[in-house]
Amino acid sequence: MQIKFLGTGGAFDVDYLNSAAILHFRNRNILIDCGFTVFPTLVKKNLIKKVEYILLTHLHNDHSGSLANLLLYKSIVEHSKRPIIIYPSEQFKQHIFDLLEIQVKDPEKYAEFVPLDQFPGIQAIDTFGQHSERYQTYAYVFEDEDSRLVYSGDLGKPDALFDKLDKMAVMKTCVYHDITFEPDNTGHTYYKKLFPYISRYEIFGYHCDPTLNPADNPFRLVFYQKELMA
Ligand SMILES: [Zn+2]
Ligand SMILES: [Zn+2]
Repeated sequence: MQIKFLGTGGAFDVDYLNSAAILHFRNRNILIDCGFTVFPTLVKKNLIKKVEYILLTHLHNDHSGSLANLLLYKSIVEHSKRPIIIYPSEQFKQHIFDLLEIQVKDPEKYAEFVPLDQFPGIQAIDTFGQHSERYQTYAYVFEDEDSRLVYSGDLGKPDALFDKLDKMAVMKTCVYHDITFEPDNTGHTYYKKLFPYISRYEIFGYHCDPTLNPADNPFRLVFYQKELMA
């Protein structure tokens, strides 16, 4: 299992690009999120051919804004097989479908939709309302034989996610968690809210402006870990 981030910024941190990653998991390349900077980044880094599977945490524009471009490019320019969009619930599939329909008319022409339960080792954690009020978001947990990787998606209240993780079998677990350095930002996780979990989990922060990193933040930021960047 190997993760390479395409960007680590928040919605408005254009210098750091939208938070998204390519995860190599059980011989598959899964693009996690496809915000408005992701398509150009994939093209520039010559990684777009690698995208075979797509998994979205939620549909805010910094997580879905270039999905239509990506799908059209795969079809029209690359002539490659339709990427597979993995969906965690029928309702979320419908939301993705609606988002794409107005842009590409027939989403099934450009993507195949396959439910998450067809992918052993991947679990969705429903984080509805914990990033934005009455808004659907998901975190994802990826498990292979001896390690677990957690991708938080945008999440203001980390406790529910960690409650679930605490109940899972003990295994080396690396958590990539959205992080904010502003205590008043309730849509994302203020870094001090992650302190209770520091001894049990390896945690990296993303979805932030790394230049605002306070001196007492003990969590490493993905942005500064060159081996985690695509
Ligand atoms: Zn976001
Ligand atoms: Zn969001």
